[in-house]
Amino acid sequence: QAKANGKACYQVFHPDMHVLTRKVFELQTDLRLALEQQQFLLYYQPVISLATGDLVGFEALIRWNHPTEGFIPPSQFIPVAEETGLIAQIGEWTLREACSQIKAWQEKFEKLFSVRINVNLSVKQFSLPDLMDRIDRILADTGVSGNMLKLEITETAIMDNAESADLIIKQLREREIQLCIDDFGTGYSSLNYLHRFPVKTLKIDRSFISIIEDSNLDRSNKSLIVQAIVTLAHQLGMDVVAEGVETLEQAMYLKQIGCEFAQGYYFEKPLPPTLAEKIIIKGKYLI
Ligand code: C2E
Ligand code: MG
Ligand code: MG
Ligand code: MG
Repeated sequence: QAKANGKACYQVFHPDMHVLTRKVFELQTDLRLALEQQQFLLYYQPVISLATGDLVGFEALIRWNHPTEGFIPPSQFIPVAEETGLIAQIGEWTLREACSQIKAWQEKFEKLFSVRINVNLSVKQFSLPDLMDRIDRILADTGVSGNMLKLEITETAIMDNAESADLIIKQLREREIQLCIDDFGTGYSSLNYLHRFPVKTLKIDRSFISIIEDSNLDRSNKSLIVQAIVTLAHQLGMDVVAEGVETLEQAMYLKQIGCEFAQGYYFEKPLPPTLAEKIIIKGKYLI
């Protein structure tokens, strides 16, 4: 129905459409349908302690199983959802689904399941005035407590919401929901907010990890950046996750410089819930 009216809609909304290509417009229509028809899934990527090999958490990553296009990556549809405002509903779905999964795993595994689930919040989501109400409602509905959740936001999300960020961070802390800065090093390079906003964890962007070729400490100047980030984070009282760890060499290097946690294809790709359960049972990796 919406698709049949596509052309008319295009004309009606023409002034707003200059940035949206035809393809994006179709994506937008399909995204609405995807919400209704439950075409979204969450996959879970393990976060590992480099010191012990223990499973310390999972990052929930959204997947869209499009009826004709197959899996469409979030990098393609999250920006469209942000632009069209659909991100509020998609974000609501993601958080609710992650919390339902936490509840299900708590019931199934009891004490064996005790790790936090990380949920990504986009810039627009972080600036929703009713963000806290939405979170509270989801926690209440699913019966999950804040200490099972960690929210991942980018530097840009904090900088764009510098005034409201103080309050949100305080409210999250009251609920024991932890915060994590995602993709560190790729956004605004202002370091000013780092000491202003108390954040538990800093996640080094994959682009800094992929340049590490050797576990040998003194090999490359480039990897000194990673060392500097780890040192900075520790001095500010944060712990560090390296994202995109793909090789043993990278894992060994990161362990040597005191980076606490890692995530990446070397350990595991994002997994559907049934496969993530095998990791919960295993609980540990050999490092
Ligand atoms: P991100 O939060 O930085 O997530 C990490 C991305 O790196 C994921 O891509 C993950 O699959 C990928 N990755 C993990 N390990 C490796 C590795 O070793 N090598 C390589 N090459 N890639 C690795 P994905 O799932 O395609 O997600 C892309 C981005 O989309 C995410 O980046 C996040 O910003 C966004 N996103 C994903 N799910 C959600 C969601 O539920 N809500 C929101 N708002 N954004 C989401
Ligand atoms: Mg993330
Ligand atoms: Mg990231
Ligand atoms: Mg990233």
